[in-house]
Amino acid sequence: MNLNIPDEVKGLLSKFKSEGFGIYIVGGAVRDLLMGKIVYDWDFTTNATPDEILKVLPEGFYDNKFGTVGFVVDGFDKPFEITTYRTEYGYSDNRRPDKVVWGETLENDLKRRDFTINSLALSVHGSQITVHDFFDGQKDLKNKTLKAVGDPNERFQEDALRMLRAVRIAGELNFEIEANTFEAIKTNASLINKIAKERIKDELFKILKNENAYSGIVHLKESGLMQEILPELVKCFGVDQKSPNRHHIYDVGTHLLMSLKFCKSKDPVTKFATLIHDIGKPQTYRKSTEGFITFYNHEMVSTKIAKNIADRLRFSNAEKDKFIKLVRFHQFTVDERQTDSAIRRFIRNVGIENIEDMLNLRVADRLGGGAKETSWRLEEFKKRLIVVQKQPFSIKDLKINGKDVMEILGIPSGPKVGEVLEKIFEKVENKMLPNEREILVDFLSKNFVENDK
Ligand code: ATP
Ligand code: MG
Repeated sequence: MNLNIPDEVKGLLSKFKSEGFGIYIVGGAVRDLLMGKIVYDWDFTTNATPDEILKVLPEGFYDNKFGTVGFVVDGFDKPFEITTYRTEYGYSDNRRPDKVVWGETLENDLKRRDFTINSLALSVHGSQITVHDFFDGQKDLKNKTLKAVGDPNERFQEDALRMLRAVRIAGELNFEIEANTFEAIKTNASLINKIAKERIKDELFKILKNENAYSGIVHLKESGLMQEILPELVKCFGVDQKSPNRHHIYDVGTHLLMSLKFCKSKDPVTKFATLIHDIGKPQTYRKSTEGFITFYNHEMVSTKIAKNIADRLRFSNAEKDKFIKLVRFHQFTVDERQTDSAIRRFIRNVGIENIEDMLNLRVADRLGGGAKETSWRLEEFKKRLIVVQKQPFSIKDLKINGKDVMEILGIPSGPKVGEVLEKIFEKVENKMLPNEREILVDFLSKNFVENDK
């Protein structure tokens, strides 16, 4: 077998073996190696106890109660992680073992892993590489199948997070979830509520980050997990938005899914915002007697729901801020008659750092509604965004500052300085003055009289 195992990894394996310990590469690393993918995350399992591991690797650090020793290796982004064999343990809360017991054998360690493709181990003897496969993981790898190790119902009841991991990993690898495993997710979906929201958010963000986020979210819906995690989104499916002579081709939920599918951003927050941008539509749905459907103010209701979701899933402040802005302003107007200051207000509202993703959301929204990627109006708007950004936005962008005002007018620091700058800014914004230092200095010294000081 010809696998791409780095020398550093081989070195670590032989170090343990020369001390008389059994050691194997395990988990995602084996899966990814056998699939010919690049491995970022090297995990090992051994019969050495944490103390013994630290004797072999004195520079290692023992960092948690699961008996994992981390070991930093030059040239690798993530530390190697070496864990003592673990074995079956009892669960009573659907999320974590009551106690961890060190295992006696490799097989027992692999048996408690989540999916067959994650329960493979590799050992290396000289140039010979051996795959240890107790649960037909290689077959499932070949068939592109994600299957629980053992009884899927039991496994999901032990640890409900595995259900989300199933959706996430199947999406990342483009695998099918095996029928019994999928049925078991449907049966046990409500147990996901026992899992800490931070962990749910992490998995959800990984699902979204993936290029094929669309199919992950479809799995989430079909498995019943979406109903538990994002019930507001489930409500959007079946909400019709077709009016006579209007272009909407999908119901709200399908439109949201399609928008995600077309979203070009790689940022999970942007993809999430794209997925829920119309989530307030069910609450604002009105149908006139002529059959016209409207959703007045839906972006405000969507924003409120977005806030709830961000809080519920424990977004960071920065993530929440961006998420909410993208949803709140997704209906932004692109009209050639807009004034510069309207465009500037838009940029201020959305945040200059979020403009690109705001446009990504707009394009996704268009494509997800069956429209063309762009329009001449949108292209004009993009050009004006660039032009307007070259003009001053705020007092900070003026070519003179508070210090200049104090020096030229001979006044001390205080609110007056800001007021003077404000007046100058207004003139620059209204194109009555150019933003050129010399001219502004000249203007300042000539036009501000004693009572301005
Ligand atoms: P990736 O690192 O790409 O997310 P991975 O499979 O390496 O994928 P990790 O979270 O790094 O995932 O976990 C390493 C290994 O630990 C997994 O391959 C699996 O064997 C096992 N594992 C992780 N989480 C669980 C769990 N909740 N239940 C059972 N086994 C698990
Ligand atoms: Mg991993």
